[in-house]
Amino acid sequence: MDLRKPCTRCLLAEIDPDGVYKSIRELTAALPDDVKAPPDIYEKRLSACRECSALRDGMCSICGCFVEYRAANIKQICPSVPAKWK
Ligand code: SF4
Repeated sequence: MDLRKPCTRCLLAEIDPDGVYKSIRELTAALPDDVKAPPDIYEKRLSACRECSALRDGMCSICGCFVEYRAANIKQICPSVPAKWK
């Protein structure tokens, strides 16, 4: 039995790679190319989320989005005021 406490400040990719994150990966892959954030911007956004106290179990506690999906869309911005990424 694994008695480690789950990390609440992790991304879905780390918490649940074969569960919900698989669906997020599929949704992200289906985004039109002109909507997908370039990989460097996507990683920068997720780095900001990893450092953010609003991140809970892969979700943003301000907007309720899965941050990996929100960050994948170039048209989205961070809902924090001020935004932590654009
Ligand atoms: S407030 Fe912004 S940086 Fe923080 S978890 Fe939400 S989307 Fe990520």
